Amino acid sequence: MGPSSLTLRIAAAGSESDSKTAHTNVHQNLAIRPTEVDSPIMPISTINPTTGETLKTFEPYDEAEVERRLALADSAFRSYRLTSFAERSRLVRAMADVFEREGASFAETLTLEMGKPIVQARAEVAKCVGVLRYYAEHGESMLVDQPVAGTAAKNGSYLKYLPIGPVLAVMPWNFPLWQVIRFATPAFMAGNVALLKHASNVPQAALGIEDAARRAGFPEGVFQTLLIGGDRVQAVLEDDRVAAATLTGSEGAGRSVASIAGNAIKKTVLELGGADPFIVMPSADLDRAIEIGVWARIQNNGQSCIAAKRFIIHEAIADEYEERYAEAMSKLVVGDPLDEATQVGPLATAQGRDEVNEQVQDALSRGAKAICGGGTMEGPGWFVEPTALTGLTPNMRVYREEVFGPVASFFRACDIDEAIALANDTSFGLSSCAWTNDEAEKSRFAQDLEAGMTFINAMTISYFDLPFGGVKRSGYGRELSAIGIREFTNIKTVFSD
Ligand code: NAP
Repeated sequence: MGPSSLTLRIAAAGSESDSKTAHTNVHQNLAIRPTEVDSPIMPISTINPTTGETLKTFEPYDEAEVERRLALADSAFRSYRLTSFAERSRLVRAMADVFEREGASFAETLTLEMGKPIVQARAEVAKCVGVLRYYAEHGESMLVDQPVAGTAAKNGSYLKYLPIGPVLAVMPWNFPLWQVIRFATPAFMAGNVALLKHASNVPQAALGIEDAARRAGFPEGVFQTLLIGGDRVQAVLEDDRVAAATLTGSEGAGRSVASIAGNAIKKTVLELGGADPFIVMPSADLDRAIEIGVWARIQNNGQSCIAAKRFIIHEAIADEYEERYAEAMSKLVVGDPLDEATQVGPLATAQGRDEVNEQVQDALSRGAKAICGGGTMEGPGWFVEPTALTGLTPNMRVYREEVFGPVASFFRACDIDEAIALANDTSFGLSSCAWTNDEAEKSRFAQDLEAGMTFINAMTISYFDLPFGGVKRSGYGRELSAIGIREFTNIKTVFSD
C-alpha cells in the first residue's frame, strides 16, 4: 500500500482542513468489535495496523511439534554448552552479518507487522547488529573464570559462569527484533539455547529471527521459535527441559509467568511496563527538554516501556513548556509508517488503539484538558492523535495506568520535593528522566527517584553496556551489559585448597 492511499495524514504544518478531517467522532471509535476483543486467544497473524488488512495467518504448532522442538533444544544444549567462546563469537558475528545484509527487508517486516515508522525500524535492525557485535567482542571477558579476592583467594577460589540450559523467552511486539536479540545474544555467548514465544501479532519477525540464526550457522536447536499463544506458555515452562524464562511484556503476563516459574523453582527475569517520569526544572535547557520530551513520548508511536509518560514540570516554567510542547506535538507528521517522513504511525493493534482512547476519554470526562489531540483518527488503520493532557487527578485512569500510545500526561511541581513525590507516586519503576543544570538537584534525582534507571538531561535509551531493568511492578533482573549476560548463568563458586 502506498502512502497516497492513506487519507488520515496530518501535514507537518497541520492545516485546518487537514486536521479537521483527521478528527473523528471518538465515540464511534470506542465501539469495540467483538471478533477482535472477545476472543481470548489471539490468532497468530500478521495484520497490517495501517490498513487493518490480514496479510498472513499461521497455524499454531501442535503438541507434537512443540515436543519435537523441546527435545531438539535439550539435545542442542548438550553439545552447544561445550563450544568455545571463539566459536560462539564467530556465530554471533555471522548473525550480525545476516541482519546487516538484509536490514531493509527485516525493517519492512517490522513496519508491516506492527506499524513502526520505517526509519525507526531500520534503526532497530541496526541496533541488533550493534548488540550482536558488542557481545561477540566482550562476551568472553564477562564470563571468564573470575578469581575471588579476599580471604578465600589464597586458596585459589574462583567463580565460573556456566550455562544453565534452554531459556524460554516470552516477548512483546513493540520492538519485535530488538527485544529478542538483546535476550538471545547473551544467551548464545553464555552457552545457553533459546526458545522464543513471540507475541502472536509478529509471527514473521519471529520466524525471520529463527531463519537468521540458522543461516548464520548456529547448530540446529540453538534458537527456535515456538508459534504458540500465551495460553500454552505454562506447559512449556513447566517442562523439565526448560531451565528458566525471561518475559518482556505487561504486568499481567509477567505475574502469570513468574508464578508458574516460581512454582517450578525456575529463575525468571521480568521486564514489564513503565510510567516513566520526565521532570523539568527551571535551570534546564528548555529547548532541548521540549524537543527530546516530544520524541521520548512518541517514538515507536508511543508504545515503548521506557517512553516518557508523565511530564512533571516546575511551575515556574510550566506554562511555557506545556504551550511549546503542545505546539510541537500538533505539528508531528502522522501517517503511513512506510513513508520516510512519517513520525507517528498507527498503534499496533485495534485493542491497543481502543484502550488508549478509553484512557484518554476517561480523563477528559473527569475534567482533564487536552492541550493538543484528544481522540483517535479516521482509518483505515489504528491511529491515535498525538495528545497532551493537563489537569490530571488520581481518580483518572491515566494517573495510575501505563498509557501505551502517543499521549503525554502533564503535572506541575512547586519544588524538587514535590517533583520527586509525584514521580514516585506510581506502582511502576522502570526508568526516569530529570532535566536540570543544578548539581545538587542531579544528585537528589539519582538518589531518590524510585526506578531502575535515572537519565539526567537525556531521554532513556538502552545502551549495550548499561544494565537495563526496573524495580517495583516494572519487574526485576537486568538485561544488557556484563550484569545482563550473567542473569542466566550458574555462578558457580569453586573452592580449591
Ligand atoms: P503482553 O500482552 O503482556 O504480551 C507479551 C508477551 O506475553 C506476548 O508474547 C504474549 O503472547 C505473552 N503473554 C500474554 N499473556 C500471557 C500469559 N498470561 N502467560 C504467558 N504469556 C503471555 O504485552 P504486549 O502488549 O505485547 O507488550 C506491551 C507491554 O510490554 C507494555 O506493558 C510494555 O511496557 C511492556 N514492555 C516492557 C519492556 C521492558 O523492557 N521493560 C520492553 C517492551 C515492552 P500473545 O501475544 O500470544 O498474547
